[in-house]
Amino acid sequence: MQLANDLPNDRRAEYFGQCAVKMLKALRQEDGADPFSEVTSADLSAETDPGHEGIYDQALSNALAAIVAAEWPGEELDSEDRVHFARKLLKVIAKKIVPDPATGLYVIPDRDAAVRSRWEKENLLPEGFWDTRVNVDLLTDAINVSGKARHGSGTGRLQHRHVHALLDLDHHPALRTLLAAKSDHDDELAQSEDTRSAGQAQALLALIGDEEATRRAETAENPNEYDPRDNPEGHDFDECPVCGYETFCVQGLDMWGRVGFGQCVVCSYRRSPRIADQKGFGNHVAWMMGKD
Ligand SMILES: [Zn+2]
Repeated sequence: MQLANDLPNDRRAEYFGQCAVKMLKALRQEDGADPFSEVTSADLSAETDPGHEGIYDQALSNALAAIVAAEWPGEELDSEDRVHFARKLLKVIAKKIVPDPATGLYVIPDRDAAVRSRWEKENLLPEGFWDTRVNVDLLTDAINVSGKARHGSGTGRLQHRHVHALLDLDHHPALRTLLAAKSDHDDELAQSEDTRSAGQAQALLALIGDEEATRRAETAENPNEYDPRDNPEGHDFDECPVCGYETFCVQGLDMWGRVGFGQCVVCSYRRSPRIADQKGFGNHVAWMMGKD
């Protein structure tokens, strides 16, 4: 498929993202499965359902055009200023980069490696996470397979390995639409779990009544009490946002050290690290803006 040559890279990234989410769904066997849940099947040779070939090609063409245009501006175009086909874009990448001798992959290094924020380091992303690994051979094979399937001349179908090689391209800074969508999705999940936990805690408080809640609060012991010698990583109790008692056991802090995550020993409300990060970020921004 030939692409319009005047498509800006953010539109390419958008198209890629839309198609990539569909391809992510193709990795799920069950209907209606959450596309962002971890893939449990490790069978890379499993085949995707027929009908995904066109979407795959769209995603691949847009991703490669965006990557080549960002890395080597102009090289995504032929002599008549038309965007190369995906097959040719892969050849451009293969010509520009020396493949990793161990894996055979063409790795585009993370250009922001030196300025990665503390957040990214602390989220324990594996070394080289933001590098872009282009599996030229496998992606070329995917073009062959999907081309044959689309023209009805082949029985082979795209395999999960082909889809993974496509989705790996999302690490490139010109794309990252899928990673952003996943992060938003994880935020939503964390939010709904937080709401559920607060609701459950309120139901418990209603069940035991004020008197019992007060009794529990007065006798509560902090399982993670700070002690300079025995538990230097510990924290004093925090005020619980649900029951209001100073019985929120802090098990750790958000990345700015402002908001604790953990669980209340009276009402059982639990705040996850992700929610603590969200709240901490909000507090941090408010603090930055109040500073000047
Ligand atoms: Zn509480």
